[in-house]
Amino acid sequence: MARTLVKTDAIVLRAMRIGETSKLVTLFTEHHGKLKVSAKGARRPKSKFAGCLEMSWLVHIACPVRDDRDLHTLTDAEILRSRPALLADLPRLSYAAAACEMVDRLSLDHEPNRRLYQCLTGVLVGIEEVAAVQLEALFWYFQLRVAEALGYRPELSQCANCGTTMPPEATWFSPGLGGSVCRDCGRQAAAGLAEEGAPEYLRARRMSAESLHLLTYLQGLRTYSCEVIPAAPPERRTEVRALLRSFLEFHGGTNGRLRSLEFLDAMGVNAGGV
Ligand SMILES: [Zn+2]
Repeated sequence: MARTLVKTDAIVLRAMRIGETSKLVTLFTEHHGKLKVSAKGARRPKSKFAGCLEMSWLVHIACPVRDDRDLHTLTDAEILRSRPALLADLPRLSYAAAACEMVDRLSLDHEPNRRLYQCLTGVLVGIEEVAAVQLEALFWYFQLRVAEALGYRPELSQCANCGTTMPPEATWFSPGLGGSVCRDCGRQAAAGLAEEGAPEYLRARRMSAESLHLLTYLQGLRTYSCEVIPAAPPERRTEVRALLRSFLEFHGGTNGRLRSLEFLDAMGVNAGGV
């Protein structure tokens, strides 16, 4: 089986201890997708990996990779970008962890996705830079971009089922049909999925005009900069979180809330949850 020495930039999605001195690290790279590596001796103070493989950090790695293996042995790593702004800021740290967790869940080993990589590097810089009140809307924007990078951009301008132009008032949203749907299609989808016993959060649900406008605005953005990301309106939180979560779970085949944001909620910092 082919063995390639991969030298590349990578984002650390997560790192956990293995054995007495080593770490098991999940990396996301631009050209090689997700890689799981063992960093032997990484927890020894004098290790070349010491203080280097932290969640969300950008590193440059060297690692022999075999296509038929799930776990590779890291031979070198250096820090390209640490994230000091996250260290003493629980909400920022939690959103960075949630972004990494989301990419980990939705990506496959050895399957490159350049747009997904760019989404992740973009949002991590954004999380360091935006004001605290912008953090959640930044994350919503990230979720929309992730859906797009994975090939299932939600339709928001017309009925995803029959093509009718969306009315300005409240409408419906169906993850299974691909986004916003008109009243008739929404009702049919809700009834059909209920009969099949689909979980409640995956069925078509009502969507307010305000949430539709907010999501349409975010979907039209092309940058994570603080100038364009709005503050997340508190009254829209429950609805927008549920819409985005149901969409990504339906299409990404994942389920369950993001642990990092559950933790933030449990701390009382982030009312509600994604
Ligand atoms: Zn329709």
